[in-house]
Amino acid sequence: MSCGFSRIEGRVIVIATRNAGKIREIRQILAHLPARWKTLDEFPELPDCEETGMTFADNARAKALYYSEATGHLALADDSGLEVDVLEGRPGVRSARYAGAGKDDAANNARLIGELAGIPAEQRTARFRCAAALAEKGRVLAEGDGSVEGRIIDEPRGHNGFGYDPHFLLPERGVTTAELDTAEKSRISHRGRALRALAAKLEELG
Ligand code: IMP
Repeated sequence: MSCGFSRIEGRVIVIATRNAGKIREIRQILAHLPARWKTLDEFPELPDCEETGMTFADNARAKALYYSEATGHLALADDSGLEVDVLEGRPGVRSARYAGAGKDDAANNARLIGELAGIPAEQRTARFRCAAALAEKGRVLAEGDGSVEGRIIDEPRGHNGFGYDPHFLLPERGVTTAELDTAEKSRISHRGRALRALAAKLEELG
């Protein structure tokens, strides 16, 4: 019986990120795929891929292509970030380095909250976006994208997740994405949606 994932069955897929939060979520969302997972931790000598694209999709493709060639395995990349409407979509593709290269989540959150000082709650609408790409030997096999809508709050809430999660409120649920466990977050998140779309396309390829 064909499982519908014959292109990846039993093969190594390198999760092309060094972000532990992303790795945890990607493994959980794609746990049903019949692949053998590795992360970039197993390729410590590889220089990181530069992220110079103007869109999440450009960067996801570039990372998947680069790491598939550099490792010789299938490579799965996610490029994601936060878009805040009143900041005209910033931090966007610069989300990971919003406070400057080498800065951490706390510094990025501090810059974001500082820029939103005095902005009322109803104008703090935002979304997380994610583009995902799977590549093999320098060729993109499947892609997917997804988003989730929310609102930015000043006071951090919750200790799960990573990045901007403690400040990202899901208004209809009254919790931040840092107050959800990994499985709950993945059911509604940008990353969950993007990776499920990618997996569906991969399954169609047979
Ligand atoms: P990338 O590694 O260039 O894709 O940058 C992703 C950055 O966007 C992360 O470092 C976070 O700052 C932010 N981000 C993406 N997804 C999430 C999420 O699920 N929760 C919180 N922050 C996120």
